Amino acid sequence: MNTSLDKPTSNGYEHVRSVKRVDRLEIESLPRGEFSRLFIDLIENGIGRPIQVPVVVAHGKKDGPIFGITAALHGNELNGIPVIHQLLHRINLKTLKGTVVCVIVANIPGMLAEQREFSDGLDLNHIMPGKSYGKSSQVYAYELVERITTHFDYLVDLHTASSGRVNSLYVRANLKQEMTSKMACLLRPSIIVHNPPSDYTLRGVLAEQGKPAITVEICDPQRFQKDPIKRTLQGIRRIMSYIEMVPGKHVDLPDAPILCKKSYWMLTDRGGLLTVLPKVTDRVTKGDLVATQINIFGDIIRRYHAAEDGIVIGHSVNPVSQTGSRILHLGVLMNEVEKRDLNRISDDVLVDQQRSDSAEP
Ligand SMILES: [Zn+2]
Repeated sequence: MNTSLDKPTSNGYEHVRSVKRVDRLEIESLPRGEFSRLFIDLIENGIGRPIQVPVVVAHGKKDGPIFGITAALHGNELNGIPVIHQLLHRINLKTLKGTVVCVIVANIPGMLAEQREFSDGLDLNHIMPGKSYGKSSQVYAYELVERITTHFDYLVDLHTASSGRVNSLYVRANLKQEMTSKMACLLRPSIIVHNPPSDYTLRGVLAEQGKPAITVEICDPQRFQKDPIKRTLQGIRRIMSYIEMVPGKHVDLPDAPILCKKSYWMLTDRGGLLTVLPKVTDRVTKGDLVATQINIFGDIIRRYHAAEDGIVIGHSVNPVSQTGSRILHLGVLMNEVEKRDLNRISDDVLVDQQRSDSAEP
């Protein structure tokens, strides 16, 4: 058995050369036991040509759920793309139960412009589920949901930090929803932030339909980072194994994630050049110096201190900081009582997972 994630065995994905152009996802029309590469039309650009998103459907021979993965809904957040590529190379269609639908780039205009937002400047993950009649981004968001993601039973939405910032590998999830919390835990990020989906996000749209959905923040924007890509891939495989889409074979679970009950951004209250001192996943204690700000002549004008104990989820790497700029994303840890209150989120998942591992031949 090939257990090395760096050396996938051929499953035929690389032999799929033709791409079908369609105007919506119709899974039942796609052949079972095959990969289908699709360009799905969503809206038209200024010369009347379709703006299409690239989607791959891995349609298993056996029945099961529809597992949706979306990447680059923010156009400069790219680490999810190779996660999808590598996952597709590792899917065995003969044993896959159900269907994996991968939206490789959800925000095509943003990706091509190397920017977070859609081409009209709006953030697609702040306007979900969009509008059938409205601004370009609103209609695009509406069609993305209606034509593609509404078919999902599960969603893993892959993001990274924004431009000028860095992130740890962390997950945002509603830990009060049992299946969602299990998905978050099985992904084994460094940090999980309990975060009921805010309105107008893609995760929120799925959650409102009663479907488990998590957002994975895979470190930094506009680049491919080997280690977090690999960890995310392994985590998604672990989730698919838990819901019995693929056989379980993940024996070694990485360290349990740090659980945060909430998080917030510290902001500058002066304008100047910023240096953030701790790194991602560093712990900070109330009162610790976390950033300094100098004026353009080099004099220190402000020192920023942590207002409470926490962990650094992400931080700015852009020195140019006007008043109100982001400094550091601080996660506030759950205590033991809060962890127990949250739907038995970690221990029973691990026990279940080890059982399914050992049951595998
Ligand atoms: Zn994002």
